[in-house]
Order: sequence, then C-alpha cells, then structure tokens
Amino acid sequence: MIQIPKGCKDVLPSQVYLWHKVEETARKTASAYAFREIRTPVFEHTELFARGVGDTTDIVNKEMYTFLDKGGRSVTLRPEGTAGVARAFLEHGLAGGVMPFKAYYLISAFRYERPQAGRLREFHQFGGELYGAAGPEADAEVIAFAAAFLQNLGLEHVALQINSIGCKSCRARYHEALRTYFAPHLGEMCEDCRTRFEKNPMRILDCKVEGCKSIAANAPRMLDYLCDDCRAHFEQVQSLLTQAGVAFTVNPSIVRGLDYYSRTVFEFVSAAAGAQGTVLGGGRYDTLLEQMGGKAVPAVGFAAGMERLLLVMEAEGKLPAPDDGVECYLAGMDKHSRAQAFLLAQRLRRAGVSCETDLMERSVKAQFKYADKTGARYVAVLGERELAEGAAEVKDMASSASERVKLKDLANYIIQRRK
Ligand code: ATP
Ligand code: MG
Repeated sequence: MIQIPKGCKDVLPSQVYLWHKVEETARKTASAYAFREIRTPVFEHTELFARGVGDTTDIVNKEMYTFLDKGGRSVTLRPEGTAGVARAFLEHGLAGGVMPFKAYYLISAFRYERPQAGRLREFHQFGGELYGAAGPEADAEVIAFAAAFLQNLGLEHVALQINSIGCKSCRARYHEALRTYFAPHLGEMCEDCRTRFEKNPMRILDCKVEGCKSIAANAPRMLDYLCDDCRAHFEQVQSLLTQAGVAFTVNPSIVRGLDYYSRTVFEFVSAAAGAQGTVLGGGRYDTLLEQMGGKAVPAVGFAAGMERLLLVMEAEGKLPAPDDGVECYLAGMDKHSRAQAFLLAQRLRRAGVSCETDLMERSVKAQFKYADKTGARYVAVLGERELAEGAAEVKDMASSASERVKLKDLANYIIQRRK
C-alpha cells in the first residue's frame, strides 16, 4: 500500500472542524483589521525565493522543494508566503493603487525539514502583510492584529517578545562587533555558523545547535548599537503596544530566520508547545521590495504556523467542540418509506435544513443508532401510518421527546427550534 510522504499529514473529515475553527478565526480577525485575502501560486520561479527569502537562510540553503518542470525551468514549492505576495504586489503595480496595501493569506507551505511534532514538510500558515507605511504605527497595528488572532483563538499563555535589529547602517557596526566577538570561538562552532560569520553574522544568534547557542548567549546585543532613528522607532512601537494593552517583553536575542528583516522583529512563543514553541513570527522588512526589483516600499508582516497553533490550543485545553451532526435524520421503516424519505430530504435541503437519510438499507433500529452516533438533532420516522397521515413522528434526540409533525411543516418546525 502506498503511504503518505514523510512530514505530511491528512486532515480527516472527523478532524476538519479544528481547521475550520482556526481558519474562520483568522478570516474574522483579518476583516476586523481590514486586511483582505490574497492568493498566489503554490509554486514560483526558484529565483524568487533565492532573492526574496535570502540565500543565507536555512530555507534557501537546505529546505526548498526545487525541481525542473518539463520545460526545464527551475521552480520551487513556496516555503513561505511573503515572497509570493511581494511578487504579486510588484507585478500588478499595486504600489500605484490604494495604500497602504493590506493582505492576508491562508496557505500551505513546503520545507524539506526533519519532521517532528510541530515541524512538518507540508505545513500551513496564516500571514498578514502591510506595505507602504514606514512609521511605528504600522508595526504596532500588525502586532496587534497577530495578538488579536491568538486571543480570538482563546489562547492565554502565548507570550509576545519583540526586538529591533536596526537598519542597514547601524547593523554594519553591529556586525563588526559580532565578528570581533565570535572570531576566537569559530573553531568550536558549526559549519553553518562559520558561513554565517562571513555572510551575515547576526544569523548566528538564530542557530539551533547547542554549542553555538551557548557561545551566542554572551554576544553583543543589537539594542546597544541602534542608531537614533531606529531607537526612536523601536521606543514608539513599544509605547503604542503598551497603550493598546498588548503585553510584550523585549528579547534582544530574537533575529528571525529570514534575511529581509529590518528594525522590528517579533515572536509569539508558547510555553505549552515544547521545543517548537514559536507559533507566530514577523517583523518589518523595508528592503524586501527593493531587493526584488521594485521601488523601495516599507513593509511589515507576520506568519503563524497552523499546526503549531493547534498543538498549543490542545495543550491549553482550548480546542473547539466538534461540529454538530445534521439537523434531521429521516428514517424510513420500509422500502417505500425510505424512498419517500429520500424525496423529503431533497425538499428539506432546499429549505435550508441539513438532513440525511438511509443509503445502506438499514433497519429502523440501525438507522437510529447511526443518527445517534453522528449527532443528528432530530430523527423523523416515516412509516406506512405516518405517510398515510402526511406526517412524521419527530424525535428530539437530546430530550427524547417526540411528536407528530405534518411533512409540509417539517422544515419550519426544525428552523423555528434552532438554538
Ligand atoms: P523555526 O525557527 O521553528 O524553524 P522559522 O523561523 O523557520 O521557524 P518562519 O519562517 O518565521 O519560521 O515561519 C513562521 C511560522 O511558521 C513559525 O513560527 C512556525 O509556527 C511555522 N513553521 C515554520 N516552519 C514550520 C514547519 N516546518 N512545520 C510547521 N510549522 C512551521
Ligand atoms: Mg525554520
């Protein structure tokens, strides 16, 4: 038997309500913040991610699903959402339209990683992008949006950590300080970090190898190197968050995994989720659009990992209740009644009532058992006698009370008793 590829997961019909809940919460929160959905392709030219994500990142170096299509072009399954949104924004000339540009996405993303709990090869993200606003209000707005999403999911133990990684000019000075600090330790550090040391020493702070982590613990902090503009921006972001009642702590070691960030970076971390505690991350990336060949447009955004959110919801006891079953199960006592039930079901559905009827030639007893198992709210029984009266015996499955209801009134009977 052929099995699912490593690192992928099926969502079965019995579990899909969990996803619906998270997706619905995402859409509702986005609409409260006036972000509209954007949909871009699952695959893009490989070059887009090399440029848009950055070639010193783990994603581009080791994690991409890249292949040649039959026309010999190199394409890549999207490892994240931002690069595709940025491409679409530039390609459609949206900078000339209504600004700021605010969009959200609900996507699957693909990374060739070592699968563990909360780390998959196909995973799902909810993300938001705000382009065109350079001020700290935009950072605060996006962070507040992300915080509202987690709050709307009912999560209580997810902590917001923020940091500033400065701009091109102040970071250059910081990189020198980092190189001076790390140079005597290079021999004890992993190969990736030795490459990072040359290309982008700040990325060493994001290394997950224990030895590198303990060396990095005492490294100089970007916060001590911020230029006046970056410092003022960061202070203003903090002040806006405080005013908005969004709790946070400053964590100087957050740098984020992607190359394009500048100034504000942030993560929402759950203590309940174990090793894969970061459920949502984001920040400002003022150089991304320029780097991708457009004009400089300031940008800030976030992405949340849906599988990790579901793990945290479970750990916090915040998983939603399963969907209800149909409103009405139509049980037929004999062959003729079952045929009538089939027709009646079509009528009820046209009236907006969800219902089911027997497709397995089951006895009435077995039909009741099925209705009970699947959580039907009412069971309407049709037999020779009921049909002769033009009625059904309708049982409320919660209270076990039953009464005769005319078939022509059945839809209304159910609709009027909705909770
Ligand atoms: P990590 O440090 O855990 O590898 P990352 O920095 O690579 O995360 P981002 O690229 O910022 O993650 O993606 C945003 C969010 O998407 C993460 O915070 C996480 O919740 C989720 N995510 C990232 N990679 C995976 C994965 N392989 N499986 C499931 N969720 C993921
Ligand atoms: Mg990663």
